[in-house]
Amino acid sequence: MHIVHIRVLILVALCLFAPFVFVGATARAQQSCSVTLALRAPTAANIFSIQQERTLGDIEAKWVESKYHTVQDEELAAHVNAIAGRVLSQFPHDLAQVHVILIDTPEAQSFNVGPRIYFTRKMVASLRNDDELAGLLGHELGHIQAHQNAVIVSQLFHEILGVNAVSDEEDISEKLRRMLDSTDRDTKLLRKAAQIIQSQEGISQNEADRVALFASAAAGFSPQAYMELFDRSAGTNGSNGSILTDFLGATTSDLRRLREIKKTLRQLPLPCREIVPAASAEFLTWQAAVISDLDSARR
Ligand SMILES: [Zn+2]
Repeated sequence: MHIVHIRVLILVALCLFAPFVFVGATARAQQSCSVTLALRAPTAANIFSIQQERTLGDIEAKWVESKYHTVQDEELAAHVNAIAGRVLSQFPHDLAQVHVILIDTPEAQSFNVGPRIYFTRKMVASLRNDDELAGLLGHELGHIQAHQNAVIVSQLFHEILGVNAVSDEEDISEKLRRMLDSTDRDTKLLRKAAQIIQSQEGISQNEADRVALFASAAAGFSPQAYMELFDRSAGTNGSNGSILTDFLGATTSDLRRLREIKKTLRQLPLPCREIVPAASAEFLTWQAAVISDLDSARR
């Protein structure tokens, strides 16, 4: 078990979407998939105001970016931003500030911190088309719009530190540090934190999956691709994805999640379900550039 990953899990409520779409515009335009993304108002307890949540995101992002190399390449970012822009346009305006950042971690992962979505280059390498990319972005946006990170940290602060309110940046930093120190020192607390994250994720993953399917379809991508991505990812021997479930020794949630994804998919109009995922030349060029860059970084 890599302690750094457990810390990431705790700190950024890492989405365990590990190995686990502007595509064919002409073909897509002929489809008549018409669907609107309906968002559900978050109901879970959250001690962070919008401003405090932003501050929390900034602190966590600084932490993530001090641990992992971020890819500063405008050309590589351009394609993912174009896809993200299309998916984002299905969401309310207050999500317009979301940024997508490519990073390098040993795993294929995507996760979000405040208004930032992090994708590892290995995650990009594991995708088959822009439809999958759009679904994955929709999933992370689902977490962001539900304030999932702030909700989980609220519960962790309450359960681990007995804290029910935060103030400014210094205060939030100090509490985060104190919580990580506690979980580093005490395995029972680490386990408790992992359980809190897992139970929150059980709730939020299904909703983020629903958002992914509706948002990607509404943006003109194949929602079926998201299901295929999940199915493929969750079935990869459990070796890459489930640090948390490995840690807890329980990995049956993926099957339940896949069942929910299939159920939601059936709620979409037939023309949406019939969009066939396809890798465009643009996607393949971008993916090859990301991978070759990864290879050259290793040399
Ligand atoms: Zn997730």
